[in-house]
Amino acid sequence: MLYLLTEHQFLSGPIILTLILGVMLVWERSAPRRKYAGIQGRRLNNLALLGIDAAVVILLFPITSIGTAFLAARLDWGLFNVWPVSYPLAFLISVLILDLGIYCQHRLFHTSKWIWPLHRVHHSDLHLDATTGVRFHPLEVIIYTVLKIGIVLAIGAPVAAVALFEFLLIAASLFYHANVSMPTPIERVLRTVFITPDVHRIHHSAWHPDMYSNFGNLFIWWDRLFGTYHAAPAGGHEGMRIGLDGFEGARVTHIVQLLKQPFDVKSE
Ligand SMILES: [Zn+2]
Repeated sequence: MLYLLTEHQFLSGPIILTLILGVMLVWERSAPRRKYAGIQGRRLNNLALLGIDAAVVILLFPITSIGTAFLAARLDWGLFNVWPVSYPLAFLISVLILDLGIYCQHRLFHTSKWIWPLHRVHHSDLHLDATTGVRFHPLEVIIYTVLKIGIVLAIGAPVAAVALFEFLLIAASLFYHANVSMPTPIERVLRTVFITPDVHRIHHSAWHPDMYSNFGNLFIWWDRLFGTYHAAPAGGHEGMRIGLDGFEGARVTHIVQLLKQPFDVKSE
């Protein structure tokens, strides 16, 4: 049964991630959305950051969000483990609440003067492709993981809902950061429900009003509901500048510089 997914089975995560990343890299090569001259070592450094993040999470967290859902179910912790609602309803609402939680968290990461220097590492990428989707500072990943586990505990989300959400979150991040083009009619239909690459790219604009928009992860509804949805970037997708003012060179590419960047006084 799906809800009996174990931690061991979740080790298939890295394999799934590699497969999706591979598909995105092939798609980017065959149908790129923006021209990319190439920045030496950029992709490898982004992937190195993913490796460090994975090691930090494995070392620091004795339990994942899926393991937390198991524990909450066994000990009757959290809303849906004490409130008798039907399983499909608990499943559906859990996925929606988790996505809303990540949306709120993303807005907090932009507004908190303590957390923004960490999230800024993600935004300082000078180009957007699938590897940007795994480019996060380890300290941001720690905060993100603690908050996500907190949401799972609070709502007592079903294990399968958390497992599905985690899978979709990884797949979505690789997809909407990818430098891929798709037929306009398909993109228009897709963005009525989901975050597409054309929607999320606007969030990586160097122009602040565009950067302070499109915070969503899976569903586009939260941005529409809370007034943070931008349909198109000010300079157009070809003309818009990606990155942050004053952030360029090795300090936005090299792995050591990326780890140091939040604490670099020049960044202020
Ligand atoms: Zn952001």
